[in-house]
Amino acid sequence: MAEKKTRKYMLPEDQIPEAFYNLAADLPVALPPVLHPGTGMPIGPDDLAPLFPMALIAQEVSTEREIEIPEPVRDAYRMYRPSPLIRARGLERALDTPARIYYKYEGVSPAGSHKTNTAIAQAFYNREEGIRRLSTETGAGQWGSALAMACAFFGMVCEVYMVRVSYNQKPYRRGLMEAYGASVYPSPSDRTHAGREILADDPDSPGSLGIAISEAVEVAASQDDVKYSLGSVLNHVLLHQTVIGLEALKQFDMAEDYPDLIVGATGGGSNFSGMAFPFIGRMLRGEQDVNMLAVEPTACPTLTRGPYAYDYGDTARMTPLVKMHTLGHSFVPVGIHAGGLRYHGMAPMVSHLLQLGIIDAVAVQQLDTFSAGVQFARTEGIIPAPESNHAVAVAITEALRCKESGESRAILFNLSGHGHFDIQAYIDYHAGKLVNYQYPEEEIAMALAGLPTVNAVVGD
Ligand SMILES: *Cc1c(COP(=O)(O)O)cnc(C)c1O
Repeated sequence: MAEKKTRKYMLPEDQIPEAFYNLAADLPVALPPVLHPGTGMPIGPDDLAPLFPMALIAQEVSTEREIEIPEPVRDAYRMYRPSPLIRARGLERALDTPARIYYKYEGVSPAGSHKTNTAIAQAFYNREEGIRRLSTETGAGQWGSALAMACAFFGMVCEVYMVRVSYNQKPYRRGLMEAYGASVYPSPSDRTHAGREILADDPDSPGSLGIAISEAVEVAASQDDVKYSLGSVLNHVLLHQTVIGLEALKQFDMAEDYPDLIVGATGGGSNFSGMAFPFIGRMLRGEQDVNMLAVEPTACPTLTRGPYAYDYGDTARMTPLVKMHTLGHSFVPVGIHAGGLRYHGMAPMVSHLLQLGIIDAVAVQQLDTFSAGVQFARTEGIIPAPESNHAVAVAITEALRCKESGESRAILFNLSGHGHFDIQAYIDYHAGKLVNYQYPEEEIAMALAGLPTVNAVVGD
């Protein structure tokens, strides 16, 4: 019988998941509590109410295994979901590997990345509770464009604080957000107390995600009709992203296969989690084992070099304290091209899984990620986002390892977005302008010296 050469595993629209999967239901050890930035005591729903709608606060602390996806959200997902699961036959051939490489392609979303999955859900839940305006931050612009689009769908106003260096470097992302109807401000800006304070110190500040978060949070906290929206890190964001892994489970049934290894690039942890959690849940329930590898840049080595400690989510120390792998809230990363991977912290849920030994993490150099991305483009046709290249690089390394050992493993990675707005990065790569960057030990030590003292009391 001739071997089937299926490349794409496509699900019909009615196979879009009906419920998000909540990993908290299956965790062997509960997450450490979230602490109030002023008192250091565990926070309650009321503390978060100025920033988030009640539905999202409930999801943040829920331990229900399944959380129904509202029909208007599923309806918006139908614009681009289910996303394809693709067998990377071209890449496999080029690598001459016995490994079976699969990728879930989230670049099919109109804004170009997986971030649309949570943007749509967040805009919906806010609108349901009567909110008409959302404030947020964006680094490379992926999250800002996703939320701008979602706000347009639900008739809401979107205010975006964009890290200044990206604002200047990525005019097309800014243009996309504006086309969707959002107002975009370079951060630090003079519109907020937090921004003005940074500018007074350093008028040329390139900005950072931590600073932009401070600005967006301040806007929401100080105005009744505005809520804040975060594109990664929080439990409810990771929850919304599980539509990726839930679809992938069904697609692996179609392929009559199952991944041995799941790889994802981690900035705040949402695309990795969205892909991995449904598989981790099956493992924790004793159904089927799987290995997981989170990939980060050596320039922002949160999981591999940051301690597991209580820290703020933002530079101005306005957010609650969460226990996570962190490089310190004052960390200002160098200007690597994977802007979405430059956050100082990591999702508490992902940090917790690393602590429990359920997942592993690895850091890769910038040049290796771009050479992987170029090889991927030349064999599979899709030019990946620089963030996604981190997952591509490790999938290739693992496939080559299989070639050496002769093992035929199934490797699944999340191709979290396309790189159509990141072509300048590829131009720079080919011009030899990109460099590797290893974050110096002294710099990390300096940022960590500013960790809140709560660790002495509540931490370990
Ligand atoms: C934002 C982004 C990431 C990193 O964020 P996570 O929350 O870790 O997923 C990765 N890939 C792309 C394409 C992104 O836009």
